[in-house]
Amino acid sequence: MITGHAHDGAGVGKVEGFTVFVPLAVQGETVRARITQVKKTYAKAVLEEIVSAHPDRTRPLCPVYEQCGGCQLQHLSYEMQLKQKRQQVMDHFMRIGGMTDVVIHPVLGMDEPWRYRNKAQVPFGWINGRAVAGFYASGSHEIVDMESCLIQHSANDQAVAKVKELARKLKIPIYDEVKHRGVLRHVMVRTGYHTGEMMVVLVTNGEHLPHKKELVRELVDSLPQLKSVMQNINTKRTNVVLGEKSRVLWGENVIHDKIGDVVFAISPHSFFQVNPVQTKVLYDQVVRYAQLSGEETVIDAYCGIGTIALYLAKKARRVYGVEIVPQAIQDAKENAGLNHMNHVHFEVGRAEEVMPRWLREGIRPDVIVVDPPRKGCGPATLDAAVGMGPERLVYVSCNSATLARDAKYLKERGYQVTEVQPVDMFPHTGHVECVACFVKKEEN
Ligand code: SAH
Repeated sequence: MITGHAHDGAGVGKVEGFTVFVPLAVQGETVRARITQVKKTYAKAVLEEIVSAHPDRTRPLCPVYEQCGGCQLQHLSYEMQLKQKRQQVMDHFMRIGGMTDVVIHPVLGMDEPWRYRNKAQVPFGWINGRAVAGFYASGSHEIVDMESCLIQHSANDQAVAKVKELARKLKIPIYDEVKHRGVLRHVMVRTGYHTGEMMVVLVTNGEHLPHKKELVRELVDSLPQLKSVMQNINTKRTNVVLGEKSRVLWGENVIHDKIGDVVFAISPHSFFQVNPVQTKVLYDQVVRYAQLSGEETVIDAYCGIGTIALYLAKKARRVYGVEIVPQAIQDAKENAGLNHMNHVHFEVGRAEEVMPRWLREGIRPDVIVVDPPRKGCGPATLDAAVGMGPERLVYVSCNSATLARDAKYLKERGYQVTEVQPVDMFPHTGHVECVACFVKKEEN
C-alpha cells in the first residue's frame, strides 16, 4: 500500500515498518513491487504490478517516459499533480515548520502544461556503432535516442533533430565519453519565448569542428528563427556540459527574451529561467507580496542574473542584488543597462556575508526578496535580514522543506508567514516552486 510521496514524486510505502520507495506508484494504490536496493533505513523498488489503481492515474503521453529520467509525474493527471504538489508543501509546513495555520493556496498551474521549456541540452553518443542523441536513461550514463521531448519548445525540438540529421549526413565524429575521443559532445538550443530568437550551441571536444561551414549553412537555411550559432569548447572529462570558451560561428553572441516588459540578453552560459510563462506568474506573485509604491528600497538576495531585481525595479526607488556567481552579476549589470535602470546595484558575494555587511553599512530595505538554492537561506542571511527590519520579506523557494525550516526560524524572530503561493514551474516533474509572504509582527 502506497501511503505518501517522496520529494521527487516517487510513491512511498511501508513493508513491516520498513520504508520502501516505489517510483511511478501513487498514494492510495496497492502495488506489487520488486526490491532492488536495501539501505539502512529504506529500500528502493521497481513497480511490477498495480493491484488497485488510483482513479487519477493516466497513460503517459511520452513514449519514453519510463526510461527517461526527465519527468516523474506523467502517470498522473495534471490536476492530480498540482494537488500532490500542494500537499507536499502543506506537509512540510506542518512537519518541519510546526505550523498548521498557514494559508497555502492551490498551485498555480499552466493552461497548457506541455512544450514549456525554452532550453534543450542534448548529449550525443554511440549505441552499437550508431550515432545517437537524446537523454541519459534514468540513473545511468547510457544515451537513449529520442526524436521529440514533449516538455520542450517545439522549435528547440526541430533544431536538435536538424543538428542530429546533419551530424549523421556530414559524418561529424561523435564524442565517445569512455574513450574521450571524437568531436560533437552536446547540442544546446535556446529559444526566446517572446522574441522567437534562437541560439544553437555546438559543444565540441577541441577547437576543430569538421565541415563547419556546411553545417552552419544548412542550419541557417533550415531554421528561420536562428539568430546565433555558437561553438563551445569543452575538452575535459566531465559531466558538465559547457566548457569555458565560446565563439560565434554565425550571427550574434546573444539572443534576447523578455519577462513582462523587461528585456534580457542571454548567452550560452547565462542562467535564465527555463519556463518563461510561469516565471512571469511567479514574479507577478512576488510583486503582489512586495506591495511596492515606487518609494521603497528593496534587496534581491540570490539574484542570479538580476531577473527579480529588474522586474521590481520599476516600482522601487533603489534595488540591491547579491549573487555568488561573478558571470551572473556581469549579466545582471548588462541587463540593467539594456533596460536603462541605473538605480539598481549588483554585488558578487555570498549572501550570508554581504547581507550582514549591508546591515552594518546601514542599508535598511523596506522589502527583502530571497530566492536561495535548494538548501535554503540559513541563519546568517536570515539574521541579517531580520536585523534590517523590513516591513515585508518575500521568500521564493524551490524546496518547501527548507522554506518551512526557515519560516520557523523567522517566526521565532518576529516575522510571520501569512500566505504561500505555490507555482508549477516544471509540470510533469516532481519540482514545486513557492512564493511565501512574511510580515513583521507588530510589537506590543
Ligand atoms: N532569482 C534568480 C536566481 C535564483 S536561483 C532567478 O529567479 O532567476 C538561486 C541563485 O542563488 C543562483 O543564481 C545561485 O548561483 C545563487 N547562490 C547560491 N548560493 C549563494 C550564496 N551563498 N550567496 C549568494 N547567491 C548564491
